[in-house]
Amino acid sequence: MKIVCIGRNYVAHIEELKNEMPEEPVFFMKPDSSLLEGNRPFEIPAWSNNLHHEIELVLRIAQTGKHISREQAGKYFGEIGLGIDFTARDVQTHLASKGLPWEKAKAFDQSAVLGTPFIPLRAIGDPGAISFHLDINGNTVQQGDSGLMIFTFEEIIVHISKYVTLHAGDLIYTGTPAGVGPVHPGDHLKGYLGTEKLLDFYCV
Ligand code: ZN
Repeated sequence: MKIVCIGRNYVAHIEELKNEMPEEPVFFMKPDSSLLEGNRPFEIPAWSNNLHHEIELVLRIAQTGKHISREQAGKYFGEIGLGIDFTARDVQTHLASKGLPWEKAKAFDQSAVLGTPFIPLRAIGDPGAISFHLDINGNTVQQGDSGLMIFTFEEIIVHISKYVTLHAGDLIYTGTPAGVGPVHPGDHLKGYLGTEKLLDFYCV
């Protein structure tokens, strides 16, 4: 199983980080060792002083595919979940400034938090209008809607599968909306897809 993450998929988030608008999807990967499930506590790594939350809609790939066409892309995912792409922003900024890869900032242990359960698309309705949000200690810090994504779920699958074979069970984190910021020990994070709570855990 692999985890593929899309960067820069919401205009307001690109603006808050002062990044360039992408002409095609930007993606990177996390290893299976980065997965944190079951609402277990997230341990903030000691080597970062600016560990950011990024709440994201997550696709679970339903079948193996390579060079998937736009017309077929909808057949490759049947359910949507919610996750957090934890990011050591200080380390990422440092690596990016030197033109180095981001893995230390993005692929560390526990950096891919995954909520439960996944929601079948047929229970969601319009995949182009899925709202989601993240609360920390009772305050909403990030709010998103799949209708605001620059690249749709189908476009993401087409693009990734042009380079990398997707297997059943692979996860795609589809990018974060604006409002990213640091987490601290003791923070209580709750993530909602619509009104359904899929994430509920503490940072330690
Ligand atoms: Zn992200």
